[in-house]
Amino acid sequence: MTAFQRIQQWRVRRILRKYPIEESVWRATLEALPWLPNLDTIAQARLRDYATLFLADKIIVGAQGYEVPAGLRVAIAVQACLLVLFSNLDAYRGFRSIIVYADEYIVAHTSMDDAGIVHARRDIRAGEAWREGPVVLAASAILHDGRGDGMNIVIHEFAHQLDMQNGDANGFPPLPKDIAVTQWTQHFTRAYADFCRRVDGEEHTALDPYGSEAPEEFFAVMCEAFFLIPATLNAEYPNIFQLLKRFFRFDPLHTDTTIPAYT
Ligand SMILES: [Zn+2]
Repeated sequence: MTAFQRIQQWRVRRILRKYPIEESVWRATLEALPWLPNLDTIAQARLRDYATLFLADKIIVGAQGYEVPAGLRVAIAVQACLLVLFSNLDAYRGFRSIIVYADEYIVAHTSMDDAGIVHARRDIRAGEAWREGPVVLAASAILHDGRGDGMNIVIHEFAHQLDMQNGDANGFPPLPKDIAVTQWTQHFTRAYADFCRRVDGEEHTALDPYGSEAPEEFFAVMCEAFFLIPATLNAEYPNIFQLLKRFFRFDPLHTDTTIPAYT
C-alpha cells in the first residue's frame, strides 16, 4: 500500500466515524425506498458507508429557499450509491454539487435556427445532470418514485453522470474490460432502434417511452428499469439486462449471487 492509499484509508475511516448517518434516519430512508434490492448484510453496510462518504464529499443545496430535509439527503445518497455499490464510488469524483428544487422547475432557453430566427422555449424539468456538475433534482419527483412504474429520477440523473465520465452523454459510459465495446454498441443500438420504432408506432411500452428521446436517455431509462423493474427489463430486452448486470456487477433478480469485481 502506498503512502497515498494509507492517507486515503485514514480519511475514509475518519469520515465514517465523525459523520455517521443517524440510525433512525437510516431506517426511515430504507423504509421509504421499498423497491431497494434485497441486499445481504455486507452489501447493506457498504451502502451505508458509501452514502456517508458521498454526503461528506458532495454539497447538496436547496434552490429558491428550499431546505433539503436530512432524510431526503440520505435518500439521494443511497440511490446514487446503489449504482456504484459493486463497481466504483470514484465514478462520481467529477462533480460536487447537487441542487434540489422543492418541485419541478422551469428552464428558459433560447436557440437560433438556420434562418437566424431566435426561438424562446420553456421546459418543465424534474432533474438534469451536467458534466462536472451540478446534478439538479426536484424533491417532489424523488418522493414520487418507487410506485411500480419503473421510473426513478435519482437513478436516471446519476446514470447520466456515469455516462459522462468519458465525454458528453451518449449512452456509452466507460466499460469494464470484460464487456467488449462492439457488443455494447451492437446491443444498445439494436434495442434503441426497436424501442423508438415501438414508441413511434404508439405502442404502449412497459418501459418509459422517454427512453426514445436519444441514446443517452435510453441508457438512463434502462438503468432505472434495471434497478426498479428488473424482471420487466429482462423480458423486454434480455441482452440489455445481461450487459447492465455485468456493468453494475450486480444481479437484481438473484441478489445472493456475486459477480466478480471490475478487473
Ligand atoms: Zn435524462
